[in-house]
Amino acid sequence: MSLIVTGSIGIDTVYTPDGQHRENVLGGSAVYFSAAAAAYGPVRLVAAVGDDFPAEHRAAFERFPAIDLGGLETRAGSKTFRWGGKYLEDMNQRETLYTELGVLEEAPPPVPEGYRDSKAVFLANSHPAVQMDLLTKLPEASLSVADTMNLWIDIAKDELTELLGKVTGLVLNNEEAEQYTGKKNPVTAAKHILEKGPRFVVVKKGEHGALLVHRDGIAALPAYPVEDVVDPTGAGDSFAGGMMAHLAAGHADGGDTSFDAVRRSMAHGTVIASFAIESFSLDRLAGISRGDIDARYDEYAAMVRLT
Ligand code: AMP
Repeated sequence: MSLIVTGSIGIDTVYTPDGQHRENVLGGSAVYFSAAAAAYGPVRLVAAVGDDFPAEHRAAFERFPAIDLGGLETRAGSKTFRWGGKYLEDMNQRETLYTELGVLEEAPPPVPEGYRDSKAVFLANSHPAVQMDLLTKLPEASLSVADTMNLWIDIAKDELTELLGKVTGLVLNNEEAEQYTGKKNPVTAAKHILEKGPRFVVVKKGEHGALLVHRDGIAALPAYPVEDVVDPTGAGDSFAGGMMAHLAAGHADGGDTSFDAVRRSMAHGTVIASFAIESFSLDRLAGISRGDIDARYDEYAAMVRLT
């Protein structure tokens, strides 16, 4: 099933607690998502950059031939989204140092005519109005999942609520679930979000794994225990990339969004996210093979098996 994503393409600067940092590396929600999804199959990317987007970052996409760049717009006179973040001693916590929205504040990128038949859509982190715009341009989408973030809950909560009435699923982290609902308990918060419309909510809890609150049940999955976490940036987006690619795979028309299918797809998201955090930017994702993923998946499946 054709998978499409819209979200940010970012130029990131990231500081980690061991004193390392990387300046102006390729990042962004749609970028991590598509790099992860590309390990499973083709993915259509709809996003905009400014004319300051470095040629070396454009070239980095060549390492992911399954990413279809037909919807990548380079907007003259605009600036690429930039984000800086710093991880605290506890790598589960990060501070945003700056966010320069650039093109993310402007009109949404156009959707190529050939993409309008997309069936599975992931609305990676971006302004909820931009997420809604993509959704309305994809009349055949039968599986739509959105992600969001503190900034958008702060500045565009009403638009986000409107979007929740239209999507099949929402992925967000536990702090965001609390911020949006005012409920501290992630299960209570997710149930509250279900009332706004989606069929399922995935609450990401960093190294503590992810929680699925579905209309048909609740499940909790641990994270894959990574020994050498280099940079957690993009873990959530890569998780979503693996999850969506797996949900969309093998379905000609509409993904299977049953409780069991979503839970299984989350295991794939967990495994691909564990690779993403073993390097800065996309370096590790660019270097893995399908064999590496399958081997780690088997190891993970054995770890969580109880009988
Ligand atoms: P994650 O670690 O999964 O939350 O994703 C981090 C990525 O999201 C970074 O590469 C940033 O470029 C991008 N990002 C950070 N803040 C935002 C935002 N407000 N909207 C869209 N993308 C963002």
